[in-house]
Amino acid sequence: MTKTAVCVCSGGIDSTVAAAIASQESYELHFFHASYGQRAEAREKDAVEAIAAYLGVNNLKYVELPFFKELGGSSLTDNNRKVPVGAEVNLDAEKVTPSTWVPCRNLVLLAHASAYAEVISAEALFVGFNAEEAQSYPDNEKEFVERYNAVLKKAVASYSVAPTVKAPLVDLFKPAIIRKGIEVKAPLQLTYSCYLGEEKHCGICESCLHRRRGFEEASVDDPTVYKL
Ligand SMILES: [Zn+2]
Repeated sequence: MTKTAVCVCSGGIDSTVAAAIASQESYELHFFHASYGQRAEAREKDAVEAIAAYLGVNNLKYVELPFFKELGGSSLTDNNRKVPVGAEVNLDAEKVTPSTWVPCRNLVLLAHASAYAEVISAEALFVGFNAEEAQSYPDNEKEFVERYNAVLKKAVASYSVAPTVKAPLVDLFKPAIIRKGIEVKAPLQLTYSCYLGEEKHCGICESCLHRRRGFEEASVDDPTVYKL
């Protein structure tokens, strides 16, 4: 019997490696991508489509969440705020929330993806949550996944079987994620990580710096073209 998984995909490395793991585990994949007014929206969508094509995924579900941009409060969605770059970024600051935090984003995205999963009777929801992101963002921690899964059991109809959120990278930092990506043949060359959303990766925002350092520390050739 076919196993079905919804993969929450941003177009970045983490969610792409999680999707490639799901693919290797023989799930039929449905990609789920959210546009919430993030600066990189157009580039992320292009990346998600390219990654879907590479992995042979025919099912793509998009959700528009303009509410986040209306809310503001994040340099990722508010163009009047500056995204920290270069020396303004502290890659290893623990429990320090950068201005790029989007309020309750993973909770809201997972809620939408869960509704989709219930409708298509998916067994699993794959996400790219990981230990490196969890240093700054508590909604990447294992505890968040466990508690969300407990809530989800009570969030679906009595005739539905609640899907399970799977976060296969939850204990991994970027170099290990990149090595895992190569092992599972994830198309890292098609991923897009930059917060700024320009054609090339800027090379100096927090996300680009994590990406760069990850490839360096993994001793893997970085296919990314950086502007700086
Ligand atoms: Zn960048």
